[in-house]
Amino acid sequence: MADRPAAVLRFYEELNDFLPEERRKRDFPVEVDRARSVKDAIESVGVPHTEVDLVIVDGRSVDFTHLLRGGERVAVYPMFERLDIAPLVRLRPRPLRDPRFVADTHLGKLARHLRMAGFDTLYGNDWDDDHIVALSGAQRRTILTRDKGMLRRREVERGYFVRSVESESQLAEVVRALQLESLIVPFVRCRECNTPLEDVPREAVLDRLPEKVRASYDRFKRCPGCGRVYWEGTHFRRMKGLLERARAQDSAP
Ligand SMILES: [Zn+2]
Repeated sequence: MADRPAAVLRFYEELNDFLPEERRKRDFPVEVDRARSVKDAIESVGVPHTEVDLVIVDGRSVDFTHLLRGGERVAVYPMFERLDIAPLVRLRPRPLRDPRFVADTHLGKLARHLRMAGFDTLYGNDWDDDHIVALSGAQRRTILTRDKGMLRRREVERGYFVRSVESESQLAEVVRALQLESLIVPFVRCRECNTPLEDVPREAVLDRLPEKVRASYDRFKRCPGCGRVYWEGTHFRRMKGLLERARAQDSAP
């Protein structure tokens, strides 16, 4: 290894999640042979390029195609890192003031939570990776996945690797990581089919409601997609609490 050209890489913040313990938060060499793109060098150590927002080589921001020839110092920053790096080159357009998602097959509960928070989220329990990646590209949707391999695919531009395992923690994590907190609008979208809900007069749904609900609630929404009726019941309050907790975590330092 002594004679082969190498660049020294260092990863910041949550990008370290992808590295083995001995490489976290410290400099380490990566061989570059005669020339190797920054993107290739980064992915060779297991960090998906979709997680990277900024690469600094010897003090200068570069794009993914920048070639390393050996001897460089490379600092790699995550997407959505909150440092003020506006003057530097970002590797892709700023995310998404109208964020839209496609969730992988393991994230059905998270998809429903996101819909309840108002976010357009596609999900199918039998979708394969190709389909998810194609949807992401065609509709500019951010892929949410627990599969790092999917995010390493060349054609993926927008993706987020979900660290948490439990669905409510996943919601809080995604809200925090993608800075969605001010964009939450609860109960405007069907949690089962993603269709925007419409207001519906009480009389129109009365015969479909359980006795207790009929007696206790006045305001209802209906999904024009699947016909489900929503009201501000127990589930509504539970979800509201969950969203408030996600927001509160988001505003924590
Ligand atoms: Zn629906």
